[in-house]
Amino acid sequence: MEPLAALKKYFGYDAFRDHQQQIIETVLGGHDAFVLMPTGSGKSICYQIPAIVEKGVGIVISPLIALMEDQVRGLQANGVRAAFVNSTLSSGEAARIQQGASRGTVDLLYVAPERLLTRDFQHFLSQIDIALFAIDEAHCVSQWGHDFRPEYLRINEVTRRFAHVPRLALTATADEITRRDILQRLALEHAKVFISSFDRPNIRYRLQPKQRDRYQLRHFIESEHPRDPGIVYVRTRKRAEAIAAFLDDSGIPALAYHAGLPADQRMGHQRRFQRNEIRIIVATIAFGMGIDKPDVRFVAHLDLPSSMEAYYQETGRAGRDGKPADAWMLYSLADGIALRRLFEQSQGTEEFKRVLRKKLESLLAFCETVACRRQVLLAYFGERYPDPCGNCDNCLDPPATRDGTIEAQKALSCVYRTGQRFGAGHLINVLMGKATDSVRRWKHDRIKTFGVGKDLSKAAWDSVYRQLLFRGYLREIPDGHGGFGLSPEGMAFLKNRETIRFRCDPVGREQSRETGARQTPQAPNATLADADLLEALKRYRTKVAGENGVPPYVIFHDRTLIEMAAVKPKTMAQLGGIHGIGEAKLRRYGKDIIAIISESQARLA
Ligand code: ADP
Ligand code: ZN
Repeated sequence: MEPLAALKKYFGYDAFRDHQQQIIETVLGGHDAFVLMPTGSGKSICYQIPAIVEKGVGIVISPLIALMEDQVRGLQANGVRAAFVNSTLSSGEAARIQQGASRGTVDLLYVAPERLLTRDFQHFLSQIDIALFAIDEAHCVSQWGHDFRPEYLRINEVTRRFAHVPRLALTATADEITRRDILQRLALEHAKVFISSFDRPNIRYRLQPKQRDRYQLRHFIESEHPRDPGIVYVRTRKRAEAIAAFLDDSGIPALAYHAGLPADQRMGHQRRFQRNEIRIIVATIAFGMGIDKPDVRFVAHLDLPSSMEAYYQETGRAGRDGKPADAWMLYSLADGIALRRLFEQSQGTEEFKRVLRKKLESLLAFCETVACRRQVLLAYFGERYPDPCGNCDNCLDPPATRDGTIEAQKALSCVYRTGQRFGAGHLINVLMGKATDSVRRWKHDRIKTFGVGKDLSKAAWDSVYRQLLFRGYLREIPDGHGGFGLSPEGMAFLKNRETIRFRCDPVGREQSRETGARQTPQAPNATLADADLLEALKRYRTKVAGENGVPPYVIFHDRTLIEMAAVKPKTMAQLGGIHGIGEAKLRRYGKDIIAIISESQARLA
């Protein structure tokens, strides 16, 4: 079968996207490929189609057991012969699947890296025809990525023994240095490299200083996403529990998700979210690697993520269906200090630390920038985005800035005169002329900067220190007490009498005011759809999903239903032309859908 015919037959799509065709041709030509494309851009098709059309089994190495099953079920619902083997199966079940694969009844076999490395599995591999190896989430092989998994380093030991089998490594996240690392560690130096734009035009990026985080979050959800599914990221397990409970108490159904929960409970929460039974998940970073829910309307970060890659990856879970979605984040001085501390305490070579420091600085600078967020974000991944995007907070509502030279001079010289060892709390007391015990003990009520900052509030000084830290004028003293020293830039600022402008932090409720009109790039036109018919189709989808025990979007994406409700196909052939309807779905659900459509038309007549 031709690749395009298989795309239509199994997935119901009419055309390949951007690079998909070239990547598929590369693999079918027997060559290795490295694919760097953003989440939601359609990477899976790049190995699924070759595995379907080629003789033999496509082996897909994927790190997350919890998601394998959903992926495989989704494929099976499309009539693709897919299966998985992982530790959730009994050895009997696994053996049965592997036997089936040897007899040629499987086109795609998903496997966790641990399993791939077992002798048993390698023996199995040596007895079958392998169409290709797909290495999903390939950044897991690099310690520069944010999901380093040691087993990934050993994938080569296995694939090396099948030198004639093409390999396809895929990831949605990798800056320059991680990219080089992946190619080297997976021995893909000769692979053809495909990189597509990382832009996610439907995601609106917005950041705000953290004040009373849970109230800011609640206001954001209530005013902008009162009914939408969303993910809230926090740094610790305890916070995940507390924030979920707070939302729940506020009448916003939410569940926590973190590595401290028993595996079955965690899985249960994830499934309930995937199936729209629970609206909001409050998670630590453990949640969502590769999560495949297309209609997440917002991702809120209540704490800073660990890096720009993590930020991009996590916000990337929003709006995979292409419709408008929000990436909303709060940040604070305390967050910056916590991250800096982690960094200072990290072990490793000077080179390692240098890379880490640069990554951290990029993230903090991103928070305070007054430039287009999208431009800054994409620049981090080496991509130039020519004009301001018009779909981020800084574009929609350009932040006011003010001259902060005098304040910066006061704040930095206070650091200097107190001996470069105190944290923001103490420094602010000195600036504001508060003779606390500690201030008196250190005789800081007698230095020149004591009381020179009485004109500003504590919050204002907090903002000054935050901006100085985030912009690299201060550095954390690595003694674990959160004290500041001056960075070379901070020193130069004082010496050379430079000037500086600060962002004016928004105050009170103002900060969550809705900004500008929403843009809906490439969203299917819902207004053309017949609303009653759409509802009827959704009810049908819910019913079928329930019967099959899968999330609704595995049956049909929203976009497919909307298109049906707009086009109102009357024949099976017309229905087959709808986006997202392949042969299997046409066969299974076609008659029912046509009946629903003609019923709704009859009601109108
Ligand atoms: P990724 O793995 O890159 O995050 P997926 O492979 O999950 O993305 O694809 C995202 C969505 O786009 C899926 O719903 C998929 O079916 C859809 N998709 C992929 N390729 C095409 C195509 N050529 N035409 C239409 N939809 C596509
Ligand atoms: Zn912008």
